[in-house]
Amino acid sequence: MSKKAIVLFSGGLDSTTVLFQALKEGYTVHALTIQYGQLHFKEIDSAKRIAGDLGVPHEVVHLSLPWKGSSLVDSELKLPKNRSANEMETGIPSTYVPARNTLFLSYALSWAEASQADSVWIGANAIDYSGYPDCRPDFLAAMENVYCLGTKLGREGNPIKIKAPLVEKTKSDIVKLALSLKVPLEQTWSCYQGDDQPCEKCDSCQLRAKGFQEAGEKDPILSC
Ligand SMILES: [Zn+2]
Repeated sequence: MSKKAIVLFSGGLDSTTVLFQALKEGYTVHALTIQYGQLHFKEIDSAKRIAGDLGVPHEVVHLSLPWKGSSLVDSELKLPKNRSANEMETGIPSTYVPARNTLFLSYALSWAEASQADSVWIGANAIDYSGYPDCRPDFLAAMENVYCLGTKLGREGNPIKIKAPLVEKTKSDIVKLALSLKVPLEQTWSCYQGDDQPCEKCDSCQLRAKGFQEAGEKDPILSC
């Protein structure tokens, strides 16, 4: 089987770092971005630009979630801002999109099996994160079991693997890794909002800021 990876690629810090890591490890990378009704297109634009610059094959798949269920896809719901570290460590916020990574990993699995890829890569992180249940190691292990049992390749003894190289890393470790891989950080978009500049108040902005601060680095996107 070819050393080929499908990378779930949102255009944010984490998934872009994962994409560069897969390239560094010698994989032929195909990037998959899923548009699921986000209220802005900034991260998808980032993903297109980065994949285009790399010359990496890139699919943008549209997924419909008419039932919404998250402040990331429903403008009627309030986006949490300025949450403390303690708040982030307890409970699951309204930005959680019901079963999003189950959907994403299933789509990626389909492409992986159809194209004979041996792995699906995801930038899930369970250290400096918003507590989403579908970013945790036990969930990823369970999904890998689905990969094994629910595919022709898996039943024939060649199961597709899930690679989540950031899952146990702190945000500052991710920033350091991104810098070592020469990730174009100024092109990555992490903010939950789609304004000209990151809001610096949502969970995603705050976690990113914590990562840069603890790494002793300056986030280039804030000086663009
Ligand atoms: Zn933000």
